[in-house]
Amino acid sequence: MKSAFIGLGGMGQGMAANLQAAGLLSAVYNRTHEKAEAFAREHDVKAVRTPAETLAEAEIIVICVSADDDVLAMVDEIADQLTDRHVVIDCSTVASDTAREAARRVARNGAGFVDAPVSGGTEGAKNGTLSIMVGADDAVFERVMPVLDAMGAKITHMGGVGTGQATKAVNQILCAGINQAVCEGLRFGAALDLPLDKVVDVVGSGAAGNWFVNHRGKTMVQDIFEPGFKLKHHHKDLGICLHMAELNGGTLPLSAKTREEYARLMEQGHGDEDISALYRLRSDLFQKD
Ligand code: NAP
Repeated sequence: MKSAFIGLGGMGQGMAANLQAAGLLSAVYNRTHEKAEAFAREHDVKAVRTPAETLAEAEIIVICVSADDDVLAMVDEIADQLTDRHVVIDCSTVASDTAREAARRVARNGAGFVDAPVSGGTEGAKNGTLSIMVGADDAVFERVMPVLDAMGAKITHMGGVGTGQATKAVNQILCAGINQAVCEGLRFGAALDLPLDKVVDVVGSGAAGNWFVNHRGKTMVQDIFEPGFKLKHHHKDLGICLHMAELNGGTLPLSAKTREEYARLMEQGHGDEDISALYRLRSDLFQKD
């Protein structure tokens, strides 16, 4: 079984490298071709110039691009040349409706589709320790399991197409709340003049411990917000969550507040920073002379 990878961003670089290490990768495509060339040189695979060229190289096509329209654009680029020997796996974070639409478009030529959004950050992508939430028919899921296994440590089949993305929406709501709590808590610790590295180590090992404080706590308190997870992407994800909540007759107050705050940061030019840049907006909580 051979796979090809479309989208060598912060996540795709690590995920594709793990596919290559498992002997499963044959080609890569990236919109900015130089990135694909650099990856190909480093990992000894083929860099192709169009998404459709991946189809001759592999049966499983993994996509990891930014947002809904980008995924559908990539699907449209390959749709005409797909056959029933192909399966498309989308690891981007998009709406469940987008996953179902992508599945419809690839099914016209008999290809399978899997929505497989991931969690675990760029570190998880690099180390192959992602948690992957999968929406797919049973038979298709079984077929692509070796590819998912090469990229993640926990692979969970949630149900049919779209359920992976619905589960990822739950994940993104949790991430919003965790980001809020960590930024507020660490600003409080700073105002008390506590040694913040020690604070992160000790609280990160107890009941308040979580991935975000452990991986971003020490950098955010030094005003380092290198991605990681770009806040413009989490802004996009929370838009999806709020839309889904509305369709189900509900609201998500903490997600709405977090999304508004990301929008403010994006206006200030911080959209490509890590979501921990929310810490910037907490500087006015404690006014010290
Ligand atoms: P990123 O670093 O911004 O990279 C985005 C990738 O998508 C780049 O390869 C980019 O190509 C490509 N792309 C964007 N629009 C495109 C289009 N219209 N056509 C073709 N290619 C396009 O993003 P990332 O952090 O890797 O995230 C990718 C996806 O994973 C997003 O949906 C994000 O929400 C999700 N995710 C991210 C994290 C994280 O911690 N970073 C964690 C879980 C899930 P260029 O190089 O040409 O710009």
